[in-house]
This record gives sequence, C-alpha cells and structure tokens, in this order.
Amino acid sequence: MVLTTTEFDTIAAISTPPGEGGISIIRISGEEALDVAKKLYRGKDLDKVASNTINYGHIIDPDTNEEVDEVMLSVMRAPHTYTEEDIVEINCHGGIVATNRILQLALSHGARMAEPGEFTKRAFLNGRIDLSQSEAVMDLIEAKTDRSMKAAINQLDGNLSHLIKHLRQDILDVLAQVEVNIDYPEYDDVETMTSKLLREKATDVHARIVQLLKTAKQGKILREGLATSIIGRPNVGKSSLLNNLLHEDKAIVTDVPGTTRDVLEEYVNVHGVPLKLVDTAGIRDTTDKVEKIGVDRSRKAINSADLVLLVLNASEPLTDEDKKLLSATQDKQRIIILNKTDLPTKIDQDQIKSLADGQNVISTSAIKADGLTQLEELIAKMFFDEGIESSQNDIMVTNARHIGLLNQAKQALEDVVKGLDDGMPVDLVQIDMTRCWDFLGEITGDSYQDELIDQLFSQFCLGK
Ligand code: GDP
Repeated sequence: MVLTTTEFDTIAAISTPPGEGGISIIRISGEEALDVAKKLYRGKDLDKVASNTINYGHIIDPDTNEEVDEVMLSVMRAPHTYTEEDIVEINCHGGIVATNRILQLALSHGARMAEPGEFTKRAFLNGRIDLSQSEAVMDLIEAKTDRSMKAAINQLDGNLSHLIKHLRQDILDVLAQVEVNIDYPEYDDVETMTSKLLREKATDVHARIVQLLKTAKQGKILREGLATSIIGRPNVGKSSLLNNLLHEDKAIVTDVPGTTRDVLEEYVNVHGVPLKLVDTAGIRDTTDKVEKIGVDRSRKAINSADLVLLVLNASEPLTDEDKKLLSATQDKQRIIILNKTDLPTKIDQDQIKSLADGQNVISTSAIKADGLTQLEELIAKMFFDEGIESSQNDIMVTNARHIGLLNQAKQALEDVVKGLDDGMPVDLVQIDMTRCWDFLGEITGDSYQDELIDQLFSQFCLGK
C-alpha cells in the first residue's frame, strides 16, 4: 500500500530539542505548508522564492499584527524533500516562548500538531525511504559511538534494503518459475525439476541469511549498547574504576524523560563499542554499603548483563564472597579485574587464573589509572574479535525486529527443504517459500500492518 501525498493533512512540530539555544526550528510539512507560512511570515513573496532557499523575514501574529520573532525561513517544495511534501522550516531565536508561539500560530492557521516520528513516517508512506531506512534515522539520532553511527548511516543509505530486496526478488523469480512449470509442464519429470529448483533457491537464500545473521550480535551491541555490570565486594574499587572509565569525555549520559525508559542511561565509548552501564546506582550510592554486599543484588546485575566486570581486591586474599561471585558469573561473558595492584599483592593469582581457565584476567590500579587501556582493548576484542574497523563497510543487522524476522525467514526456508525431503506436494512447499518472502518484506516495509507502523514511529522523537 503506497499512499499519495494528497491524502495527508499539514503537520507542524518543533524539531529542535526543548530549551534555550541559539536557534530553534519549527517544521511544517504538507500540501498547505506554504499557505500556513504565508499567513505568519512578513518578508519575501513565498510563492516566488525558489525551492531550497532560506529567506529572511519576520513572524507576525496575523490576528494582532504583533511581531513575534525575526526568522530565517526555508522553503522546500515537493517532491524532493524529507517527506516528499512541501516543507517550510522556520529558524527562529532559540527561546522557549518565541518557539512555542510560532508553533501555536502554525497550529491555529492550518497545521495540525505532528505525532512523534510523523515526518519520517510520511517519508516512508510516500515511498522515499523504506521501513528499515526509517528505523536507521532513529538509530542515527540515538547513536552512542562513531561505529554505531556508521552502522546507522549504512542502513540509511539503503544497503540492507538492497540486499533484502535482492533476496525477495530471487524468491519471487523461483516462485514464478514454479508456477510456469506447474501450469505448462514441458517435461514428464516436472515435479522433480521443480523440487530441485526450490531446494537450490531455498539453500542459497538460507546461506545468505545465515551470513547476515552472523553480524547480528555485533550489530545489536552497536545499536543498543553492551549491557555491562561492574560487581564486587564493597571497597574493592568499583566506583573508582567506573569513574576512570567515565573519564575523558567518553561518557554519554542519556536522559529519556517521558518514555518507558525514564531512567538515566549511561554509556561509555570503548573503542567504538558502546558500553551501557547497568545498575551503577548501586555502586555510586555509598550510603548503602551494607546492601551492596548482598550477592542477591549482584545476581540481578549479573543476569541483566551481557558483560560482567568482576572486581577483586588484589591486596587482600580471596574471600568467600569473592568465590561466590566468581561462581555466580562463571557462565557469563566476564572479565576478572584484579584491582589495587599498586599495593602489595596478597591475592593468589594462580588460583584466580585456574578459576578463570586462564581467561580474561586483567590487573589494574584505579588510583594510578593503570591497566585501563588493556581492559578496554580486551572488551573490544571480546565482542569484535576481528577488529571493529574490518567490518566498517559491511552490511550489519543491528535491529532486534530485523533479527527476529530474518530468523523467521530462515526457519521458513528450513521448512521448505524439510517439506521437499518429506516428499510434500510442491504447492504446500510453495507456501513456506512465500512466508519467507513475506518475512523479508516486513523488514523493508513492503508488507506491513498499520499497527506495526504506528508502534514503530511512535518511538521516534517529536519533530523528526
Ligand atoms: P567500591 O566500594 O567497590 O565502589 O570501591 P571504591 O571505588 O569506593 O574504593 C574504595 C576505596 O579503595 C577508596 O578509598 C579508593 O580510593 C580505594 N581504591 C580504589 N581503587 C584503588 C586502587 O587501585 N589502589 C588503591 N591503593 N586504592 C584504591
């Protein structure tokens, strides 16, 4: 279903973050965008200005003739715009009052308040970008590291979409061929021929999906961050290490008010890997030392983590508490950090190494900031073993929705092959092949349900 632009009304929103700043932008999109702007703007004749120009003038309240702000107004005419509709963007002085006044004036003179993500939703519904590209827009805005940004740009450029479209076309070709074989059998062994064709294509597409899914683990980390817990007994140096990690402007703190994630999320950029720190409140809250001891609390942090940093105090012998934490994390991706190595070592390093199978043990001194580079390199190596740069231009699947659909598509192809093995009639096998085609289509939005679209775009920011 592709809607034409004429079916949409004109929408407006503030596209810049709320608050005081140098400039704020009010964006208006739709058939009447220019008409709305003309009612509020005093300056050049907007009917005569060329597309993609920015024009000096003033915003006036047409009802009172009061001057509201001095502005620069961009005119972008359909169809070569973000939404493929006429767009006007008003750059005003970035104060809360002026910005809101201009938005209110736009709303009372023909525009409707845009829903979150509605501009991008229109770009999708008007066919300028597909669904995976729309999702990449949001990923780009939310990217926590350069590497996450590159993965989002790659997807926004349509590289994933091209691959998916290619696979779908291959499936469609084979389905068409099967139809022809069935309708116009030239040979007696049409059944055998058709089965062979289906099997070959299913195996081929399956292999390519498996290849793509191999990037999913890293891709998901780049998009969502690697959930990381720092655990250990009190006073081993967890918060000192955390502060070290958070140094050098590497910390990205995201506040997401008014959404389901209304907690403060902290990210650290480790060689392009965004570490999303889990449960740091427990570490920071020094008034709560007793509660912190609880292994139960640690267990919660351990369970929710992709990576556990288990901190031990190298200047003390191993305690029972340490041993419990070692055993509670043994099935996890973990790094054992022997901290306080600036002090005389009392911990039995050989015992630790044997407990850890010789894996991922790092010595640090948080006080002297020693060993942190090695720690960061180890983290990057654990999750991007072939090096983060080597996969720079490859297509990555980063989005849990895409990963789920690719897995379903893969399963459908396995059903095709199983059906053929079991001697199922070709028309039944065709159904599984078609299911695969549908699943892939949901990634790009070629086949979709309205509820999915509404739900996806509602997670966007207002004004995007
Ligand atoms: P937490 O309770 O595990 O978060 O531990 P803190 O980070 O609060 O550290 C407890 C104490 O150990 C503080 O006095 C720190 O200054 C000290 N400390 C932390 N790391 C080191 C280290 O590497 N060497 C030394 N000598 N002291 C450290």
